[in-house]
Amino acid sequence: MRLRVLGSAAGGGFPQWNCGCLNCAGVRAGSLRAASRTQESVAVSADGQHWFLLNVSPEVRQQIESFEGLWPQRARHSPIAGILLNNGDLDHCLGLLSLRESHPLVGYATEAVRRGFTEGNVLYKTLQRFPEQLRWETLVLGREMPLLLPDGGAESGLVLTALPVPGKRPLHLETLGAPSPEDNVGFRIRDTRTGKTLAYLSAVAGWSPVVDELVGGADCVFFDGTFWTSDELVNAGLGTRRAEDMAHWPVGGVGGSMKYLSEIRARRVLIHINNTNPLLRDDGPERAELSKAGIELAHDGLELEL
Ligand SMILES: [Zn+2]
Ligand SMILES: [Zn+2]
Repeated sequence: MRLRVLGSAAGGGFPQWNCGCLNCAGVRAGSLRAASRTQESVAVSADGQHWFLLNVSPEVRQQIESFEGLWPQRARHSPIAGILLNNGDLDHCLGLLSLRESHPLVGYATEAVRRGFTEGNVLYKTLQRFPEQLRWETLVLGREMPLLLPDGGAESGLVLTALPVPGKRPLHLETLGAPSPEDNVGFRIRDTRTGKTLAYLSAVAGWSPVVDELVGGADCVFFDGTFWTSDELVNAGLGTRRAEDMAHWPVGGVGGSMKYLSEIRARRVLIHINNTNPLLRDDGPERAELSKAGIELAHDGLELEL
């Protein structure tokens, strides 16, 4: 299984357009040792020819152009075989609307996530200009399903299981409908040829037995690295909401995810990094602590093979 990180930042990216925090101002000025990052998306492939996107960010066009593996090979073609959504947050699904140029797409999402995107959304019509423009495969929690190639439906060599992890409904849907375990899932993706397994949990509000189930036994774990501390935004004067209010498990501190992940044997990579996170500084003490725990920080363009 091959992986390519297309984008590694949380919603808003790094730097964020309306943010002048220490990190954003520093990376703009070039005074901070840090790399800018687009919003979270990862491409996964078993054969290096057909790719599945884990989330599709508002920066998808730039991300496709940044990686030759996603370039068309004919006058009308795309190596993108499917798009997986782990929740309905806009930074995870808004890119669908940017892929509206009359190309057949396959979306993999739970019913709750699909309905959150499609219902009452007049812009969705741009993806319904012909039958099968966007075909949905419904993810049933806990049920393994093969990821298929769009032309002919041959097996891609990857199988997917979605499991419910602590999270919440997207902000814009909070007042519409009741919360569901389908609102936020983690992915287990297994390569049927090599048996290697990826656990992909880019949004996790905290520990749960299912988090253990996904992470245990995986060869590689991508994990929510949004915030270093609970009160990162509050302390920076950027808002009143704590990490927990936004359903993100902080990385640092006694009860942080770094402590949890440090005891896991798999290759571990943090992704979905918010622009306020001090981990973004390449030479900061937080990054040194992360490295000491054997955990990597994703950056745009990171490639790995399982
Ligand atoms: Zn997000
Ligand atoms: Zn910022």
